[in-house]
Amino acid sequence: MSPAVGLCATCQYVREVRSDRGSVFYRCALSAQDPVYPKYPRLPVLRCPGWTPPAPAQEPVTPS
Ligand code: SF4
Repeated sequence: MSPAVGLCATCQYVREVRSDRGSVFYRCALSAQDPVYPKYPRLPVLRCPGWTPPAPAQEPVTPS
């Protein structure tokens, strides 16, 4: 993801949406829960109280 996106580039709530023409848009999934957040934030996002780092990958469960 381009650094020009700003904070959204590293947020777990961002969803990359590609149009039929190949344009890429960044949708904020948090907007569905809280209307304070715009569905398509104006980029680059430099400050956002909703920024959340990606959830860590789950460790595979190994049988003992
Ligand atoms: S919560 Fe903020 S940083 Fe995260 S995707 Fe939405 S606008 Fe971007």
